[in-house]
Amino acid sequence: MAMTQWELYDAIVVGAGIQGCFTTYHFTKNKRKVLLLEQVMSAPSAQGCVGDSSCSHRRADGHIFSQTEHQAWSQKDLRILMMGRKEEAEFHTTLDTLSKHGVEHKYFDPEELKRCFPNIRLPPGHGGIWEPSGGALCADKALKALQDLIRQLGGVIHDGEKVTEIKPGFPVTVTTTTSTYQAKSLVITAGPWTNQLLLPLGIQLPLQTLRINVCYWKEKVPGTYGENFPCFVAVFPDLIPHHIYGLPAREYPGLVKICYHHGNKVDPDERDCPSASPDLTDVRILSGFVRDYFPGLQPQPAIMECCMYTNTPDDNFILDRHPKHANIVIGAGFSGHGFKLSPVVGKVLYELSSESTLSYDLTPFRIRRFKHQDKASL
Ligand SMILES: Cc1cc2nc3c(=O)[nH]c(=O)nc-3n(C[C@H](O)[C@H](O)[C@H](O)COP(=O)(O)OP(=O)(O)OC[C@H]3O[C@@H](n4cnc5c(N)ncnc54)[C@H](O)[C@@H]3O)c2cc1C
Repeated sequence: MAMTQWELYDAIVVGAGIQGCFTTYHFTKNKRKVLLLEQVMSAPSAQGCVGDSSCSHRRADGHIFSQTEHQAWSQKDLRILMMGRKEEAEFHTTLDTLSKHGVEHKYFDPEELKRCFPNIRLPPGHGGIWEPSGGALCADKALKALQDLIRQLGGVIHDGEKVTEIKPGFPVTVTTTTSTYQAKSLVITAGPWTNQLLLPLGIQLPLQTLRINVCYWKEKVPGTYGENFPCFVAVFPDLIPHHIYGLPAREYPGLVKICYHHGNKVDPDERDCPSASPDLTDVRILSGFVRDYFPGLQPQPAIMECCMYTNTPDDNFILDRHPKHANIVIGAGFSGHGFKLSPVVGKVLYELSSESTLSYDLTPFRIRRFKHQDKASL
């Protein structure tokens, strides 16, 4: 094992997913010396992956999320449709949040929705919120562009180096499968593997890793749900327990991506082992949804891929310092909706790590909110 004694980094970031990359980017932008370590070769959304696209829409709860998404991405395709009943709390709150923050949107009553989107057939009484500034992000391309930018700005990325040991202190010492490094601070953005790294550091967060089946559905008539079709989120709590979301046919020609916002618990190291999650309830729910509401699609998935969500009990992120080691910062639990906010997450993790003034109130994201949870060992 080689250790270059004189190389003290300002920060080491573990995990080159979108959150680790944006954190590293903020270090390089602020002229700090930073090393990004990734266990697999060429990281593009490989692990808790999002594939080629990810939707960006505003969450109904409307705190930091709605304030920050405008700042998060400047380029994306436009249009998103949230479908549901106006009386539903989440639907209602989303309308209020959009109005409160002055985000352009339009409510479609059930009749208008039917006229505008004849290829969607909804349950009686269901309308839609049309938001022209929502849309799809090209996740792999975004990650690749960001890694190129980090390198241009002088950041160092080591792919294929798994972090095997972290010795807290000042400096913090990080050992990987090939070398040992030291830094003034450490940021852990290891997605589903976060608790594995935290165990020797004396804490376990209440994170649940879910295997998500990413399904693509074939158009009966090519082009029916193509480029002009919006991204959508279906919120039908009376009929389906979790959200269903979809993106127009673009990753695979003629195949629309429609997924269930939930999955089965999985060990992150067994994600690709089908026997780890033999339960296909989610796919059955999706098949029923497609059959009933998207009559122009074949009701069996043509392609099924998988990736992972790392969920917290309240679905809010964890953005905080380690309770005992202040120079170790954790960004975790993005609960299936972290991609769109990654530019802001990276900024906040940088601020926490460099002891800069925080741009946002992080109370909803602090670890201490879980101190009474069974699974938390803080
Ligand atoms: C199917 C799917 C759809 C999604 N859709 C959306 C969406 O529409 N909108 C949205 O905003 N978000 C979406 N998300 C969520 C979003 O993709 C995640 O929130 C985000 O990717 C989490 O990024 P991350 O960097 O925290 O984790 P990851 O992408 O999992 O990255 C963590 C990295 O850490 C590395 N690592 C772990 N342990 C070690 C170690 N010991 N040493 C070195 N490296 C290590 C891993 O290899 C991995 O590359 C979706 C996610 C999925 C799975």
